[in-house]
Amino acid sequence: MTEPEKMIEMNNLNKGCLRSWPHFQDYCITCGACSSSCPVSGIDGFDPRKIVRMVSLGMQEEIVSSRWPWICTMCGKCENVCPMEVDIPGLIRKIRSMRDRDKVPGILHKGLDTAIQTGNNLGLPQEDFIFILQDVGEEIAQEPGFEEFTVPVDKKGANILTTIHNKLVNTHTDDLKHWWKIFFAAKEDWTVPSTNWEGTNWGLFTGDDERMKIMAGRVAENMEQLQAKNLLWPE
Ligand code: SF4
Ligand code: SF4
Repeated sequence: MTEPEKMIEMNNLNKGCLRSWPHFQDYCITCGACSSSCPVSGIDGFDPRKIVRMVSLGMQEEIVSSRWPWICTMCGKCENVCPMEVDIPGLIRKIRSMRDRDKVPGILHKGLDTAIQTGNNLGLPQEDFIFILQDVGEEIAQEPGFEEFTVPVDKKGANILTTIHNKLVNTHTDDLKHWWKIFFAAKEDWTVPSTNWEGTNWGLFTGDDERMKIMAGRVAENMEQLQAKNLLWPE
């Protein structure tokens, strides 16, 4: 049996258990490089090395119920510096996926429920979304040099289709203006879809693979339907 085949066999034997391929946590030499590079090390005692060690020691219940896996930002710095190529972000996603969904912290799971039902984490109706985009567009058009600015919603064949982070149409509308003005100045050909525009995939962050795929698939559908050439997915 080849080494990869042995790993797959081991994974199958350990189905549902954390101590398995493909995250390679058992190769950890406890050097601490991951802890040093991690931007959230130290928050509430969080330390990626401790997570790796707990998994290697089979402390599955303790780590799944711990707050630590939810402190990680999934930035991937730890993985880049690890000399043993331990897949720490992947391991943390796996741990998150093992948490009962009604025990997922904060608004992440509820927001994902809402996004699956409505196309965005806020549950914002399409007409309200379009109203906000047009309102921001009108504000930009009042600035000198941007008089011709409009927001191209559902434009077919654009060079760039961009998703929108829900907070940008909720509490941070001013943040939309900066890059839209750059598009205008650069004479970019761009568009925003009026449905399924959500750029934040909480299926990714909560370890919910099935619903992560649904959210990603919707973005791909928008690309096809609007025949856009490139995708700008700021999240
Ligand atoms: S960097 Fe890699 S080998 Fe070093 S402690 Fe972290 S997981 Fe272990
Ligand atoms: S992926 Fe998580 S554990 Fe790794 S460096 Fe980023 S925040 Fe820290």
